[in-house]
Formats: sequence, C-alpha cells, structure tokens
Amino acid sequence: MSAGGGNGPHADWIGWREALETILSRCEPLETEDVALSGALGCAVAEDVTADVVHPPWDNSAMDGVAVHAADVSGATAEDPVVLPLSDDIPAGSFPSGPLAPGTVARLMTGAPVPAGASGVVRVEHTSEDSAGRISFFKDSDANRNIRRRGEDLDAGEIVLRAGQAVTPAAVGVLAMQGRSRVTVRRRPRVGVLSNGNELADFDEVEEVRAGRRIMNSNGHALAAQLIDAGAEPVPLGIARDEAADIRRRLESADQCDAVISSAGVSVGDHDQVKAALEDLGMRRVFWRARIRPGSPLTFGLLGGKPFWGLPGNPVSAMVTFEVFLRPALRKMMGHRHAEAPRVLGKTRKAISSSADLTHFYRVRLDRVAGDLPLVELTGPQGSGILTSMSEADGLLIVPEGIAEVGAGETVEVIPLPGDWS
Ligand code: AMP
Ligand code: MG
Repeated sequence: MSAGGGNGPHADWIGWREALETILSRCEPLETEDVALSGALGCAVAEDVTADVVHPPWDNSAMDGVAVHAADVSGATAEDPVVLPLSDDIPAGSFPSGPLAPGTVARLMTGAPVPAGASGVVRVEHTSEDSAGRISFFKDSDANRNIRRRGEDLDAGEIVLRAGQAVTPAAVGVLAMQGRSRVTVRRRPRVGVLSNGNELADFDEVEEVRAGRRIMNSNGHALAAQLIDAGAEPVPLGIARDEAADIRRRLESADQCDAVISSAGVSVGDHDQVKAALEDLGMRRVFWRARIRPGSPLTFGLLGGKPFWGLPGNPVSAMVTFEVFLRPALRKMMGHRHAEAPRVLGKTRKAISSSADLTHFYRVRLDRVAGDLPLVELTGPQGSGILTSMSEADGLLIVPEGIAEVGAGETVEVIPLPGDWS
C-alpha cells in the first residue's frame, strides 16, 4: 500500500502512505505545558508520571463483612455454625483499634482497613449477629479472601502514565487518585481554519442560503468540530472572497497559529486565487495532488515554516482528508504515542467496485453482528458533495490503489470515525 504506482494515470500524484509520511515528517511535537487536570482530557502526557501516593493505602476489605482468623472459622456450615465474639467495629473512614485478637472477629465495611493478623473477610451474607453481639458464621469459603492489599494498584515509585499516553477519562481518574490536580502535557495546536469562495455564507447571512442564492460554509464548522474532537483549538479565519488580497490578509492573521487549514481553491478552477495568495506569502509547497478519492487536490506545504493544508472544497473531501491526514499529524504535534488510530476490521456485506488507480476511502456503516466481524456497507451514494454520506458513517473503508473490486464477505480495514455508536 505504499506510493508504489509509477505507471498509473496519476503517477505524478503522491500515494496515500507517502503523503501521510511526508506530512508527519514536517510536523513536530509542540512544547510542554502544565495544565489543570480538568482541562487535559484528550492531550498526551509529556513525561512519565510516577506514583507518590500508595493505592490502596492500607490492606482493606473488598466486602462488607467480618474479618477473621481462618483457623477460627474453619469448618463452619449452616447446620453447624461457628460463633465468635466481636472485638471491633470498623466503618469506612475509621481504623482498627489494634491487631485482631485470636478467637475474636471484627465487623468492617468495604474499603475499611483490615486489622493486622486477619486472614480474610467473610461476607456479611455468610454471617448473622445475635443480640449479644456475637457473630455466627455459616460458611468458611471467605476465610482467606476479600482483602485488597496495600499498594496492589499503585506502589510508590511505580509509573502511573507513560510519556505519550493519552489523558483519557481513566487517566484523569488515576491522576486524581494520585492527588495530581495538574499534569504536564504537550499543548494543544492552534489551527487556523480558512474557508474560500464567493458562494459561501455563514449563519449571519443564512437568509441568503434559505433563498437559494448562497451555500453555507459548512466546512468551516465541520473542520472546527473535527479539530476540537482531535484535541486541537480551531482559530476561525472566516470566509475569504475569491480574491488573492482577501485570502492573503486572512492567512496573515494566522501568524499566531501552529498550523493552518484552508478549504477550497486548490483545484484548477479559474477563480482559484488561493494558490496566488500562497505564492505571495512564500508558501513552500511540499506536494499537490494525491492518489486518493475523495480529496485528490490535497495540497500540503509550509507557510511561515508551519504546516499548511489546502483541503478540497467539497465537504466530504475536506472531512475525509482531515481524518486521513490531519488527525494523525495533530496527534503527532500533541505528542501522542500513536499517530493513527487502530483500524477496525469488518466484512463487506456486498461487493464494492473501485477504481484501481486511486486509494478510496468509502463512507461506511458498521453493523454489529453477534460473534463475528461487523458488516461493512456503504452509507449510500459516495459523491464528494454528499455530506450526509459522512454524517451516516461509522468509518472510512480503505480500498487501496491496485484493487478494482472487493468481493462480498471479504475482510476489510476501516478507519473509525468519531462516531455515533448508538
Ligand atoms: P472548490 O474547491 O472551490 O472548487 O469547491 C468545490 C465545491 O465545494 C464547490 O461546490 C463549493 O461550493 C464547495 N465548497 C467550497 N468551500 C465550501 C465550504 N466552506 N463549505 C461548504 N462547501 C464548500
Ligand atoms: Mg471555490
């Protein structure tokens, strides 16, 4: 699946993998910063985090029950219970008054410290208490069980999170458990989002759209949402008219950004002024055109030394090229260990014919099937202007160049989309 094809009709366009590798080689991890834990979700930890809080901090009970010495309850049954006096009562938040004296037992709640010497905690269901405060045991199966040992989750000095690991909800939990209200991460990329085209309107001109005279700048909003989903910060650069001066002015206003995305104006139409503006600004083009569908007019370069993506204007092309090329690049900038998401395997429900000269990213639904791989089915017509093919999709089915047909029932790879798993 590498760039390969030196002989196809688009031999001078770049292949998918080579395009992605080229992009990744130009995107470097951003600086580290110390942030509040509450704002770190989706970032990557910048350095190993080591435990200094031992968890759990004491041997504690996994059950509401009664701490015992195993020898004292050995052989207890419902017919022939063992009866022992209570010497202690330990709710969560309290500590035992001392070690468990042989021949006595201690009542305790889940999480409460287990008195020294106890071998196990008999769950409350296997006991009863009489009015004199003695405990009857009907079973001895818990006699050596139900104690969670000090430090069994994290001992002092153990690595809690490794550099490059994502701050997931679970990582937030572990850091909170460690008492860390702040965490050092790589900062979120600020990414300028420019839309281009005289036909575009935004919400403030929506009546023009309703009247059928303009179309909504859906790319600006969808790309901003993708950026947020990827953990980056979108910086809106608005809608540029198809004039080099307006485009240039808006791109110049992105000088505080770490990268810029511009949609439309990358094909060969007469009114595409984006290229002229980029030339004026000294953009160094790294590649233009990739052997992919949708999105072949993809442009990548360095603008003021920072990554610049010229995405196609068609709404599906813009969103697909984001998922395939930008999300991994942003993840690298954010310091994540893996740039690309693991692919999902599925089986095609029907045959899909493709064109062998391009790598295709088809919008597909994944239907879960009990005990088998999900069934992969196209969301419907795959035109690059059919944005609902994207909103209906669970993922992007990859059909690499060189393949003209995928048979029904074949195992295929799907790039998962931030999706609707309901
Ligand atoms: P272009 O790349 O300028 O040739 O545009 C290709 C197609 O995408 C045209 O149908 C445009 O109207 C449409 N398009 C361009 N930019 C946007 C945008 N920001 N939002 C929605 N559609 C767009
Ligand atoms: Mg245009």
